Amino acid sequence: MILEYKCNSCNQYFKIKNSAKDRGEFNFYGNEMIEECSFCSLEENLDINKIVAKEGKWVKYIYILALLISLIALYITFNSVTSEGVKIHLRRYSFVFGLIFVVPFSIAANLVNSEKKAVKRFNRYYV
Ligand SMILES: [Zn+2]
Repeated sequence: MILEYKCNSCNQYFKIKNSAKDRGEFNFYGNEMIEECSFCSLEENLDINKIVAKEGKWVKYIYILALLISLIALYITFNSVTSEGVKIHLRRYSFVFGLIFVVPFSIAANLVNSEKKAVKRFNRYYV
């Protein structure tokens, strides 16, 4: 999860260095939060309610990564099966082939899901 703030001067969203799971956590410490805009270098006293959460960039790539892991695992498994004779063992290995795709994708889906939930929770709760 990335936390961003819209700069008062240049209106660009810049990534803030402080992190919290929700706005309440920022509010809890009660300190003034001063962060520098990475575009125009203006130092701003952040308004907690104007901090917005976004999904991390990894969300876009994690399914591609899952697919790559599956393909590599499939390649390795297929190569080791081939030496024993694919036709004889194909039924036995179909379960393994299934797992090769299901496991990385379900892990990826879980990670994306919890990231989306975290973003939603942050953006829903104002202080
Ligand atoms: Zn700025």
